[in-house]
Amino acid sequence: MGLIDTAKEAVKLVDQANNLDLYKRLVDLQLEAVEMVEQLKIKDEKIKQLEEALSLQGKLVYRDSAYYLVAKEGHFDDGPFCTKCWDVDHIKCRFVRAPETDEGREWVQCQRCKLPFRSEQITKDIRSLDSPDL
Ligand SMILES: [Zn+2]
Repeated sequence: MGLIDTAKEAVKLVDQANNLDLYKRLVDLQLEAVEMVEQLKIKDEKIKQLEEALSLQGKLVYRDSAYYLVAKEGHFDDGPFCTKCWDVDHIKCRFVRAPETDEGREWVQCQRCKLPFRSEQITKDIRSLDSPDL
């Protein structure tokens, strides 16, 4: 039985004992337990992000305002990824073509933070990923 289930069971037992003060304190304790479980989930997710960041250390290469994953020396395996999302949050988030064009010039955009900018190299890289046979 988990922490929250145990707390719920204790609340039920105290309710039957008809002690209002004890019941209120136990309900507060149950709410704190729920909050602690949520905090643990957030921390687990952060640990997972940092483990991925650590595993990718030295494998992400910065080029033309984006990061690329390098499998073998000189060969890009995946990307381009947003520099802001990686540098600030350690989240590897792909750039995609932005929906609007600027007088025929294409823009790219991070799918997560929506950071838009214009880069011929990144646009070309995304286009080659969209149509690998070209
Ligand atoms: Zn981003």
